[in-house]
Amino acid sequence: MNVNEIAETLKGRLAEVHAEIARLEQATIQPLSAKFADQANDLEELATNEGMEVQHIHEAEQILAALARIEAGHYGECETCGGEIAPARLAALPTATRCIKCAA
Ligand SMILES: [Zn+2]
Repeated sequence: MNVNEIAETLKGRLAEVHAEIARLEQATIQPLSAKFADQANDLEELATNEGMEVQHIHEAEQILAALARIEAGHYGECETCGGEIAPARLAALPTATRCIKCAA
């Protein structure tokens, strides 16, 4: 995979993550059930959604950071040692910021 293909993959994933965040936001603003017995379930679902939303936001941030590195021409450089991140590692984890040695 070349950098352009990785950028396209990342952009596609970013769109998915954005859509998922929007969906969770929508679910979060639903009013609580009329019955108290159902409200506990509502709150549990809310907490789960918020947990997922935080994860998605975190993923979106990592994707944006990777796209910024591609734009700057620094994609695939280890942020710790400055060495090259192995292409196989980037293929498996396109948002990786460190080589396998530094990440370990
Ligand atoms: Zn390194």
